[in-house]
Amino acid sequence: MLKKYLLIFFLTLIFAAGISGVLGCRKRPAGEISVHFIDVGQGDAILIKTPEGDALIDSGEFSARDKLFGYLREEGVTGLRLLVATHPHSDHIGNMAEVVEKLPVTNVMMPRVVHTTKTFEMFLDALEAKNLKIKAPVAGDTFGLAGDSALSFTVLAPVSEEYDDLNNYSVVLKMVYGNVTFLFMGDAERISENEILAAGGRGLRADVLKLGHHGSSSSSSREFLDAVLPRCAVISCGAGNDYGHPHAETLRALDERGITVYRTDLDGTIVMTTDGVSVQVQLEK
Ligand SMILES: [Zn+2]
Repeated sequence: MLKKYLLIFFLTLIFAAGISGVLGCRKRPAGEISVHFIDVGQGDAILIKTPEGDALIDSGEFSARDKLFGYLREEGVTGLRLLVATHPHSDHIGNMAEVVEKLPVTNVMMPRVVHTTKTFEMFLDALEAKNLKIKAPVAGDTFGLAGDSALSFTVLAPVSEEYDDLNNYSVVLKMVYGNVTFLFMGDAERISENEILAAGGRGLRADVLKLGHHGSSSSSSREFLDAVLPRCAVISCGAGNDYGHPHAETLRALDERGITVYRTDLDGTIVMTTDGVSVQVQLEK
């Protein structure tokens, strides 16, 4: 049960002009959506609950299995309109096979890259058994959860077809609901961030930024933070993790910009609820 304290931040309407064109072809927000940064230790698992159906971005390590499925059960998740595997590292796809086996899934998105691990193969096998096809992300594509959706996702990355590091294949999604924008970075690093910046024009400003790569200094360049200008940042990482995430350099860059930071290692599961105008944040700890 999440503690019922906290912060409501009201958003100015400066973003409204930027998205009015998009709103013109979408339904206006009706009701609330919630974004749950589930504390799965060192890894990512983000549940998005909406009146149109639910979505899951990443599934944490296999070691977080009980936590993940316990949480989905508590939240009454009975199916997923969208399942995103940002990239094939085990701290993101550790439970994907079981998610696909347990829950009816409508759409699956994963970058076009293979990995040789058992975890990855089991995920592919589970998809095949359910006759689910993978949709590869195409930068610039926009889609909703349902046909006539009030919620939109835009793919910002990957921009290129090949990278040296698997992290940079990460699916980066911008999610817009009314005047509120979230950016989910997966483990995208500076190479991907620079490509997103170079592609420009797609409107990077966001209210909430899920930092790339667990707050590593290999992500979240100052140029990128200045382009996104988030009100708050979320870091999904494990307490005392082996990588030293989040890195001090990243925390300093966020602090210098007055960006409020939420961390799953310190705050537990972080839930943000929005009606498309304001965002309410609830922390587990
Ligand atoms: Zn990761």
